[in-house]
Amino acid sequence: MRVDGSAHPVVVVGGGQAGLAMSHCLTRLGVGHVVLERGRVGESWRSRRWDSFCLVTPNWQCDLPGHPYAGGDPGGFMVREEIVAYLEDYAASFAPPVRERVTATRLTAVEGGFAVATDRGVLTAGQVVVATGPYQTPVVPRLAERLTVPSLHSDAYRAPGDLPGGPVLVVGSGQSGCQIAEDLFLAGRTVHLAVGTAPRVARRYRGRDVVEWLDLMGHYDRPITEFDDPDAVRARANHYVTGRDGGRDIDLRAFALRGMRLHGRLTGITGGRFEFADDLEANLDHADAVSEGVKDSVDAYIASNGIAAPVEERYVPVWRPPAGTSAVRADEIGSVVWCTGFRRDHSWIRVPVFDGTGYPAHTRGVTRWPGLYFLGLPWQHTWGSGRIVGVGRDAEHLAGHIATHLAGRAPSASGYHVHPELLGT
Ligand SMILES: Cc1cc2nc3c(=O)[nH]c(=O)nc-3n(C[C@H](O)[C@H](O)[C@H](O)COP(=O)(O)OP(=O)(O)OC[C@H]3O[C@@H](n4cnc5c(N)ncnc54)[C@H](O)[C@@H]3O)c2cc1C
Repeated sequence: MRVDGSAHPVVVVGGGQAGLAMSHCLTRLGVGHVVLERGRVGESWRSRRWDSFCLVTPNWQCDLPGHPYAGGDPGGFMVREEIVAYLEDYAASFAPPVRERVTATRLTAVEGGFAVATDRGVLTAGQVVVATGPYQTPVVPRLAERLTVPSLHSDAYRAPGDLPGGPVLVVGSGQSGCQIAEDLFLAGRTVHLAVGTAPRVARRYRGRDVVEWLDLMGHYDRPITEFDDPDAVRARANHYVTGRDGGRDIDLRAFALRGMRLHGRLTGITGGRFEFADDLEANLDHADAVSEGVKDSVDAYIASNGIAAPVEERYVPVWRPPAGTSAVRADEIGSVVWCTGFRRDHSWIRVPVFDGTGYPAHTRGVTRWPGLYFLGLPWQHTWGSGRIVGVGRDAEHLAGHIATHLAGRAPSASGYHVHPELLGT
């Protein structure tokens, strides 16, 4: 198949915030393109978040290109339906050329560009932006094969009432694990939580949301290139905190005082028992130390800039776990929620841009294969790259590359060409 890149479209795969931001930037530049989305616009927020879900990041950080947060609660935290509405309003504001319910199944390089095979036919493209999301395939440890009770991944969790009766074991204490454990606990369920090494952060400190302090301190502008070990930074777990009920800390020790059963990491399911490592105290101490370390840097920033801010007492642990390993009889657990993360799935991309670990090698989203870009990867450029706050800046950067790539070639009248089978879908 011969593809003349100058006469064919830019194809954006994925219609979440990243794909929409990309489309907005291309529209602004007059670059013809089409967005392929396997579900509906904002599908991940619609169908892959639990019912009580709300943002952890404050609303003012929702600042997609041409679509700053305009609601009445910039310091609040949108719930799931509000995030979907925010994205729907965004799409309505510039009518991106989205083809919904089209899944890209194979991307190959051909002369002059790319062939994008989909479940609705083949499309040809001069340039392609992969914006298929930072959290793709749920990861469940093979340990799960030993379970005799129902289990699901956080990706499929919706509400406490969907789980069978009896105590629930939540495995993993990143953002999802802690929030789902809280959701179950507040619904009156008996909750066991296997606590891992994720750090935590306070919601507020010295008069402001910590996110606001970190923003003022330039944290969200710091590029990945400034770190000695970018791979380690990209692999870091997110800090746990919540936006629920206006936003508050998640203090697992306080939950323990109220009856949540905390354990160390889950190490095995043997002899009819769930077994947990002897690392609960270390993990809780680590999470608190990170949180207090963030406060130290806020204190230093306040002092060096002469900012008037109320002084605040530091956190004092309210509970300490007993030493040693722990175990729970399997018949004491009615169901398990695996909050054990996600992995990328770029298996459909058959262009040699991946490194030895399967990570797409790129510089700020630009791969070494001319015309192929990624958008929305965690820490693609900054902390916000895989989030609402930073993806717009990355999209603008890629739009510049795309326009430059096109500049040397004469675009067709429409600027893009879509295979007839995709039109009108
Ligand atoms: C539990 C959870 C909580 C989060 N909380 C926050 C928060 O508080 N604040 C924040 O800023 N960020 C948060 N994030 C991170 C981030 O904002 C979201 O993951 C967001 O959905 C990423 O947007 P995206 O457009 O990059 O990816 P997605 O929203 O996942 O969009 C990718 C789109 O691509 C589509 N797609 C995938 N493969 C194909 C294909 N082959 N063909 C066609 N379409 C395809 C999908 O259907 C999807 O709609 C959270 C993430 C998770 C998982």
